[in-house]
Amino acid sequence: MGKKTNGVGRLFGGIDVGGTKILAMVADENGNVLSTAKKKTKGEQGFKAVCERAAVTMLEAAEVEGLTLGDLTAIGVGVPTPVLPDGVAAYAPNLPGWKNAPLIKNMEAFTARPCYGVNDGNAGVYGEYVFGAGKGAKTLLGLFVGTGIGGGVCYHGELIVGENHMAAEMGHIIVQEGGRKCGCGHLGCLEAYASKTGMARKIAWEIIQEGRESILAEMVPNGNYATIKSSALQEAYRKEDPVAVEALRELAHYLGVGVASYITLLGPDMVVIGGGVFESLGKELMPFVKESARRRTWPEASYKDTKIILAQLGDHAVGLGAAAHAKHRFAAETKTS
Ligand SMILES: [Zn+2]
Repeated sequence: MGKKTNGVGRLFGGIDVGGTKILAMVADENGNVLSTAKKKTKGEQGFKAVCERAAVTMLEAAEVEGLTLGDLTAIGVGVPTPVLPDGVAAYAPNLPGWKNAPLIKNMEAFTARPCYGVNDGNAGVYGEYVFGAGKGAKTLLGLFVGTGIGGGVCYHGELIVGENHMAAEMGHIIVQEGGRKCGCGHLGCLEAYASKTGMARKIAWEIIQEGRESILAEMVPNGNYATIKSSALQEAYRKEDPVAVEALRELAHYLGVGVASYITLLGPDMVVIGGGVFESLGKELMPFVKESARRRTWPEASYKDTKIILAQLGDHAVGLGAAAHAKHRFAAETKTS
């Protein structure tokens, strides 16, 4: 056991295992992040190697505070796949070898701590529920717009995962029957329109196929608009570049279409929206999301009772949510708090 920090109660680890990077953090019970560490995921090295890198990243984060893994009560692991109750990662399309993979068995072997797995989008909404913009909500929906769309539903303090443990894949409801092809193979998913990837396809089409002028063409000289940074989108939007404005408003419009369906189905009291694009342009885009959602819901029955607001935890949402989830599960198992 390493040095004990005084006065902060128990400490938990939270790991955000993404397609390109791993972010690990040590957090106290109030959601304060004491330290972080980051590594490339190197998914091509396979499932076990990624688990080991996640464990090493967690150790590095602990060492920043002069701690060892033994000082962490439990560790939450957020991953881009549904996690089954036995700690098995069901399927991560972006990580080779992550199909029915024994996530928690490996993480516990590499860290020698109790570990708990959670889908990354679910972790994000749980983080916002416990420590962020969603505090106090009863039925909270979270949507995080990035390369894909992550999210989840937290109902009276519990994540809804459905009987198949794969529910609340928020990006894969259909918003355009027979529409654009989604990474999941279906046509017309929300993610094909309202993610950065979907928007990049629209931008590429307008500039390359339609020959429209845009400052985005200079910002992304290789034409690979999928790699465009949120900061570049922000600049182009604020300069009223017509292609950027149109593409971002289309994203906001479709996000509102999705939100309307969630509101109609679940009647949440709060929806939080986050992710890179909304961290950069949230204030500008939220009115369009709300207007789109309002036009597709019954005002007297649902929309007026739903707060739609920006997420607060930024890059830390998944790690903090994973840590909070680990605390919650550990407490339920040990019945100590
Ligand atoms: Zn899909």
